[in-house]
Amino acid sequence: MTPAAPLPDTEETRQALIDACLWMNERHLNQGTSGNISARIDSGILITPSGVPYEALTPEAMVTIPLSGLPEAGGPKPSSEWPFHQGLHQARPDMPVVLHAHPPYCSILAVQRRPIPACHYMIAAFGGADVPLADYALFGSPELCANMADIMSDRHGCLMANHGATVLGETVDKARWRLEELETLARTYLFSSIGGAPHILSDKDIAEVLVAFQTYGPRPVKQSEG
Ligand code: 13P
Ligand code: ZN
Repeated sequence: MTPAAPLPDTEETRQALIDACLWMNERHLNQGTSGNISARIDSGILITPSGVPYEALTPEAMVTIPLSGLPEAGGPKPSSEWPFHQGLHQARPDMPVVLHAHPPYCSILAVQRRPIPACHYMIAAFGGADVPLADYALFGSPELCANMADIMSDRHGCLMANHGATVLGETVDKARWRLEELETLARTYLFSSIGGAPHILSDKDIAEVLVAFQTYGPRPVKQSEG
């Protein structure tokens, strides 16, 4: 895995993290002060503070924690989920953004403790033939971090038993995109079980999609010479 460059710790980056939180609530991908977001920066990890309504967040209110070890004692209080954000940044240096939410359809599957199989080709946006389910553990606990870091070593998203979902992003925009795709997959999987059984794509089908994704999208703009 190729490590990505950390994001610059600028007002623009901080605002992009806040905008992602406001956006996920507006899109009904999350609600209230649930959820949190973090980005890897040169000096560690930038993360939302705990329990602050997103409308009240300012760039200065974002909290910096180290990439390993405890947050500063007596300093501003980071998200209660800082342990798994830290664990995922350590496990996935290729993905500088971690976004956690309580999206309704993902949460229903998480309560039923059903990982998402390859019911739609977009499952490949999460790196393989499924979106796994992390075992239940108390929010904010090191156990929850261990349950997630393990299954996300080769996946860009997971459901979290009786809790919600977490996605990774190469950028803040890619994390937002993945969260919306994950909620769409969860809804598709749930509704496709009504009046029939969803047909699940084979590992070969998904392997083909993973290859096709490498050249999907607009052609990269060529750098002009001279
Ligand atoms: P924080 O407000 O502490 O980030 O917690 C929200 C949450 O979703 C816990 O899982
Ligand atoms: Zn949560």
